[in-house]
Amino acid sequence: MTDHQMLQSIAGSLRHGSSDDVLSIVDPSTGTELTTGLSANASDVDAAVSSARAAFAGWSRTTPAERSELLLRWADELSTRSEEFIALESRNGGKAIKLARGFDIPGVIDNVAFFAAIARNLEGKATGEYSGDHTSSIRREPIGVVGSIAPWNYPLQMAAWKILPAIAAGNTIVLKPSELTPLTTLLFAETAVTAGIPAGVINVVTGPGSTVGQTLVEHPDVNMVSFTGSTRVGRSVAATAAGSVKRVHLELGGKAPFVVFDDADVEAAARGAVAGSLINAGQDCTAATRAYVQRPLYDQFVERVAELMNGVRVGPTDDPSTDMGSLISIAQRDNVAAMVDRARDAGAKVVCGGGAPSDQPDAGAYYEPTLIVNAAQDSEIVQNEIFGPVLVCLPFDTDDEGLALANDTPYGLAASAWSTNVFRAQRASREIQAGCVWINDHIPIISEMPHGGYKASGFGKDMSTYSFDEYTNIKHVMSDITSAAHKGWHDLIFTAG
Ligand code: NAD
Repeated sequence: MTDHQMLQSIAGSLRHGSSDDVLSIVDPSTGTELTTGLSANASDVDAAVSSARAAFAGWSRTTPAERSELLLRWADELSTRSEEFIALESRNGGKAIKLARGFDIPGVIDNVAFFAAIARNLEGKATGEYSGDHTSSIRREPIGVVGSIAPWNYPLQMAAWKILPAIAAGNTIVLKPSELTPLTTLLFAETAVTAGIPAGVINVVTGPGSTVGQTLVEHPDVNMVSFTGSTRVGRSVAATAAGSVKRVHLELGGKAPFVVFDDADVEAAARGAVAGSLINAGQDCTAATRAYVQRPLYDQFVERVAELMNGVRVGPTDDPSTDMGSLISIAQRDNVAAMVDRARDAGAKVVCGGGAPSDQPDAGAYYEPTLIVNAAQDSEIVQNEIFGPVLVCLPFDTDDEGLALANDTPYGLAASAWSTNVFRAQRASREIQAGCVWINDHIPIISEMPHGGYKASGFGKDMSTYSFDEYTNIKHVMSDITSAAHKGWHDLIFTAG
């Protein structure tokens, strides 16, 4: 037991899980084991929920200013220790260090600072005498204990997107990170306590989803469940949460279309498609996955994307010049490879990539930047999430056709439209069914604006004031101002006396 790292953070302290199951935490770019630890079991989930419940009494009564002050101190603490977070996130996620340094960690610090401001910004309808005889007012109250479940692709950002709006609004939380990538989440919880956030406000339980995640979602003393992950698991989480009528917030899979109209700047679109499809080795729920290009630009676009993809430097994650690291696991790499192979067997053409790079270690979960053409719209590679560095490119003729193809998957998380014509671009932003439509760009996110899906990509928003609102209950308080015993509306029910 003593050789294991403590992977649970309950009531402000790190501890070993109570299960006998050993979790192996790996650097997927080398296959090296970083650490091991014992998984949580149901008794740890119980302890974490009890700790969150106990902390809720005090935390929910802190003033917005007090919560804001603590979040600001936390942002400072994170900035001070950012190099530690960057190295750990890169190593555990197989991420190129420049991505962790330029995107993951600064994004989280900005989020903490943003929610420090938002904590002081509760909004609602104005108090007033809407009935004439009563004063109506709105209270926004924290919901209680939130149970959250996060995926492995951006471990720290996903944890932050769940934790921050919840605690800024006065809730307490038990978060289960992916069992593959708990390390930065545990460090995040530790720095919260260092910054003065009371023990028990943030608890972390680590272990498999089918046991630890399931127990958390079912737990009778959890009031709300927020989940980020695949649509398949999200469906099961929603069904489980329905059993105890918990509020559910779901951020699920994506299959973002990238629509290039024939007046677009091709160079800008090609560069955007390469960056948008390869970010985080394509393991990004908003990654560009389906480029629909209007016929006059199609050949030029395919050629330029292939050229740019061939220049992407795949390599060791700690090398600052590496553009793209590995995927999260050999299993994920094999899923991606199998999907590309099936597409090839079905008649699609692999223009570049399409295999593991020969110059990287076999034990690393590397896959080449890959461009595919000639795939059918109804084929698996166009319809299903790949979650790897793979872009499929298809031609279209009319604007209507391009927009219809963009909407033709079950998902609706994000999309982009590329055009120099303001009318076309605006029309695309209206017609495409997705929670975010970028115009002449693809990927940037900001703390002030919401992130969340349409259709099978789920519901619920992360970041922004919209997410903050989701972690509050709305209470209407209606006070009689007549002091009359006999109220006019009573006559609808009885007239005696
Ligand atoms: P996943 O659905 O396999 O797992 C997500 C989390 O759920 C993990 O912590 C896992 O342990 C847990 N889990 C698994 N089964 C569970 C169960 N029965 N009950 C409770 N929890 C359970 O997803 P993943 O492979 O970790 O992440 C990739 C997926 O996440 C992709 O589909 C991606 O699109 C999605 N994602 C979505 C967003 C978004 O904002 N919409 C952001 C990032 C990732």
